[in-house]
Amino acid sequence: MSTSLDLRTVVLPEQARMDLPVPTLGSLSPSRAGDFMTCPLLYRYRTIDRLPQTPSSAAARGTLVHAVLERLFDLPRGQRTPEAAADLLTLEWERLCEVEPELAALFADEGELAGWLTSARALLDGYFSLEDPRRLDPAERESFVEVVLPTGLRLRGIVDRVDVASTGAVRVVDYKTGRSPGEAFEGKALFQMKFYALVLWRTRGEIPALLQLMYLGDREVLRYCPDEADLLATERKLLALWQAIERATLAQDFPPRASKLCGWCDHQALCPEFGGQVLPWPAALPDPAALAPHHAAHAATHPSDPSAARAVGRVVTGAAVVTGAAVVTGATMGGTRLRAVLPATRRSTP
Ligand code: SF4
Repeated sequence: MSTSLDLRTVVLPEQARMDLPVPTLGSLSPSRAGDFMTCPLLYRYRTIDRLPQTPSSAAARGTLVHAVLERLFDLPRGQRTPEAAADLLTLEWERLCEVEPELAALFADEGELAGWLTSARALLDGYFSLEDPRRLDPAERESFVEVVLPTGLRLRGIVDRVDVASTGAVRVVDYKTGRSPGEAFEGKALFQMKFYALVLWRTRGEIPALLQLMYLGDREVLRYCPDEADLLATERKLLALWQAIERATLAQDFPPRASKLCGWCDHQALCPEFGGQVLPWPAALPDPAALAPHHAAHAATHPSDPSAARAVGRVVTGAAVVTGAAVVTGATMGGTRLRAVLPATRRSTP
């Protein structure tokens, strides 16, 4: 009689198998997935080499405006006015400078800073032209969402806002401080929103009724009603993307792909497209389970944010990571200038 345990004969009870954590294949956030699709070398430098990003006034303005729009909803409904948002702008700028003192060095003098703050205020005015925040109470703001798919691919990201109507219909909202894309690029813009919709669907069991991108730069709204086929296609695309990343990692080959986005790239000096030499492959690769850089930054700048706190010590159960139930509120939907992009089968919006 053999005394050794034949692992092939061990059959776990159904519940025990469901409680086993799914081995993680790797992690993707919308921005990292977007990096790889834009330029594999950019993905490598940001995610594998972890090269530092040069702070820019445009990125800082985006962070500031997002912070103001998050805090605006801390105020009672009646106080959510453009004047209150302008006051928050000053307060949030001071707070951001405390967290990241190098931000203040982006501006040569007080005049330059004042002009930059005015441009941030114009974006907030753009927000108020699209929506009246006194008419809604978001269910979640700056919410960290995460899921491990049955394939082992971990998806994670931070959703700017989740609204839940009295009917239970969920709207996912993302603020953009730039201008809206042309029609040819709408699919790329919506990819990030479908990513979030997929995570929410896989963690909460409901497909969001509406995905809404609010472009404060030119005061446009892009809306989309996803369906199951959309999200399944997004899931397949993400898995294929991860497989391409794995192949590139094995081959240590992340080729550059030049585009007009190169103008915003920090790594031109290390890019063959600009006469530079690619860095040698790093001796040690980062832990794939490590927090995505953007989330680590979010947790650092939102110490009191329950969503940031939830991200630490998260428990993986079966194929999903539960982030907590959405709170139903009386969020008002609609009432904005609309550029709708809807699948032919779903033309109605909540
Ligand atoms: S400069 Fe352009 S091609 Fe080179 S790494 Fe950056 S995005 Fe890629």
